Order: sequence, then C-alpha cells, then structure tokens
Amino acid sequence: MAAAILLAMSTRPNTAVTSRLTGMVCLRCAEPWPVADYESGCPRCATEGHASNLQLTYAPGERGVSLPYPDAPCLGEGATPLVELPELARALKLGRLSAKIEWCNPTGSHKDRMSAQLIARALDRGAPRVVAASSGNGGLSVAAYAARAGLAAEIATTDALPQVYRSAITAHGASIASFAGSMARWQHLAKRVGQGAFAATNYKVPAIGTNPFGIEGYKTIAAELASETMPDLVVVPCSRGDLLSGIRLGFEEIGAGLPMLVAAEPFARLERVLAGADYREQFAGDTAQASIAGSTVTWQAVAALRASAGRAVSVDDDAARAAQRRLAACGLHAELSAVSALAALAAIAADGGLSGRHAVIVLTGAGSRDPGDTDLAARPWNEAASEEALAQPATTGALPQRTDPSVQQKRENG
Ligand SMILES: [Zn+2]
Repeated sequence: MAAAILLAMSTRPNTAVTSRLTGMVCLRCAEPWPVADYESGCPRCATEGHASNLQLTYAPGERGVSLPYPDAPCLGEGATPLVELPELARALKLGRLSAKIEWCNPTGSHKDRMSAQLIARALDRGAPRVVAASSGNGGLSVAAYAARAGLAAEIATTDALPQVYRSAITAHGASIASFAGSMARWQHLAKRVGQGAFAATNYKVPAIGTNPFGIEGYKTIAAELASETMPDLVVVPCSRGDLLSGIRLGFEEIGAGLPMLVAAEPFARLERVLAGADYREQFAGDTAQASIAGSTVTWQAVAALRASAGRAVSVDDDAARAAQRRLAACGLHAELSAVSALAALAAIAADGGLSGRHAVIVLTGAGSRDPGDTDLAARPWNEAASEEALAQPATTGALPQRTDPSVQQKRENG
C-alpha cells in the first residue's frame, strides 16, 4: 500500500504555477478576479445571465508568451511545422499561404498544447481524476497527458466514437463513458465535477469554453507564427473557440499586432452572432465535420473575432471535401474539420481582396483518422473541378451529400 502511494507520488511531476501569474480577468466585462477555477465563467457575468470565460494575467517579464505551468507534463507538444503552399497561394490570389501542421503534435492534434496545461492544473488542484467530453481528438489527448502525469482520466463520448479513438484512449488507461447524444456527456461531466473531478472541456450550457488554464497552451501557436513572420490573417477551425481565443491571446501578449482571425465553422453559428443573434442561443445543424460540430457559440470566440476585425465563414461538408481533395493533392491529408480552414479562406479570397496577403491555415488534425473522412480514391483530385469547387462560395459546394448527418451530429465537439 505504502509502496503504491510512493509510486503514484513519484510519477506525478512537480506542477508549480508560475510566480508571474497575477490574476484573471473576464473576456466580456473586464472584471478582475483572483486566480481560481470558475466553473461558471465570470461570476459577475453569470449573475447577469451571461456566460463568459476568463483569461490569465501576468506580471511583465519574459519575451514571447507566458504559460501558467512552464513545467507542465510534456510529451513534446508544439513547435509544429509551417508548410508553404505556393500553388494554392497563386490559385487563391494570395501573396503567401502557409499551413500550420498541428497533427504533428504527440497525439495527432492541436489539443496537446491545451492538455499539457490542463493536466498540470488538475495536478496542482489535487484533483483525483480528470474528465473530458470529446468526439475523439480532445479525449485522446487528455487520456495521454493524464497517463503521463499518473492521473486517472475518464472520457465522455458518444456511441458514434470511431474504434480507432476508443482503442487509443483505453490504451492510455482512461475509461470511456459512452452516451447516445452529445449533450448527455456534458450532464455526465457536471456530475463528475460535483464529485471532485477536474473538467478538461466545456460542459456548461450556454457554453463558456474550456478552463482558461488550458486555453493558455494555444498561445504558443501565435508565438511560433510570430517568431517567423507575422501573418496577415489566420484561419482557424472553430466550435467552442478555445483554439481561436488562445491564438488571439497569444498575439495580444506578444504585442506586435493582431492578425485578422477567421473562424471556419460547419454551419452558421458565429456568423449569425456577428450578424446580431444572441451568442447564448442554440444554432442547430448537421455536419460530418465532427470535431467542430455542435449547436453552441461562446463569448470567447465572438470576442476573438471582434478584437481582430475578423469574420466567421460557414463551410458545408461538400465544400470541405473539395478542399480536402485539393489539399491532399498538395501532399497534406487533413481531417475534414481541419480543412474547413482552407475552404473558408477560399471563400473570402474569391473576390481578390486578399491579394498579396500572407494567410495561415491551422490544420488541427490529420485525415488518416478523420471520422468525417470519405473515400478520396473514389474521387481523385481533378484540377479543373477542384479549382471550380474552391472558387465557389464555401456554403454552396456542388458535390452530393455522402455522409449520414444523423450519425455524425452525435459526435460534436472536440
Ligand atoms: Zn464578466
């Protein structure tokens, strides 16, 4: 017994929060708060019926971006390649197009940057276990980093979770709780949090986003981009906006200007909010882009777009598939959700208004395990057809629907 406890203690890394952390501030009302985990987001906004995430604040110091847990459990996340796409840049009349290859992270998605910080926070809090609601990428990442830190993990998912994810998550020793619908996962997380577990994803409605300690991890993407050259715009696949918000916060902390941020989404959610709808509404829609599905919008996503004079572009599944084939012909096979970034970029570049600009698309996951993947071989890339499809507005793809949306929609979010 004593030996087992010693073993558990010895495998848990030291997780001291940086001494430069000074507090937190609301992304919506700018109210400052002491450092804590605010399960309902900003307390002041919550009393007013709103739901807003917070961000961390730091004392001035290091160059680049600050992380709450500089010594978080590490599996080699970050420092992903930036791959140039000159042919596509020419086709889209851009000055330069680069792809940030986030599937080069240890578990195959951008989520690893967040998981490292989240697991450190859970350890710091002394949480007995971490829980996450996921459609695949996020759950696998949390399971891996929890294993690294010697922390128990439970992943709440839907029955539609592909076997490839199920096997990988359980290989890390995490348990899986499977539900028929996606919202039931959030209810399960609420129950577990009540039992002392640390939540590594959003589970609230209206949605707030993930714990801000985790979102800090995404600032490193901005730092890596800025260390080379500041892009004019960054296109980000978006659901609850953790990644979008983290990239915004990173650029703001660097202080060299904020590129225009573009959110790619599978159907109009943020687009409708930017046009005047209340961000707390539900925006239903079916999609095969499982990693960015879901009916909710967060304030943090809205705030990131507004701060950068950015925009949201909805990309239907056919437009995403056309972009997937086009990108695969360049040697990059991205997950359908990830490649929505290219389709969104093509839509806003169609009028030539981005001439000479440098755009970055963030490719969050690889196509080889994409749940929304379709048979590329059966529809090989055809240059003329592909250019035509890419030139179409992203929401009017010309190819027939080939995925049962009722199945895909069950897998929303992360
Ligand atoms: Zn607030």
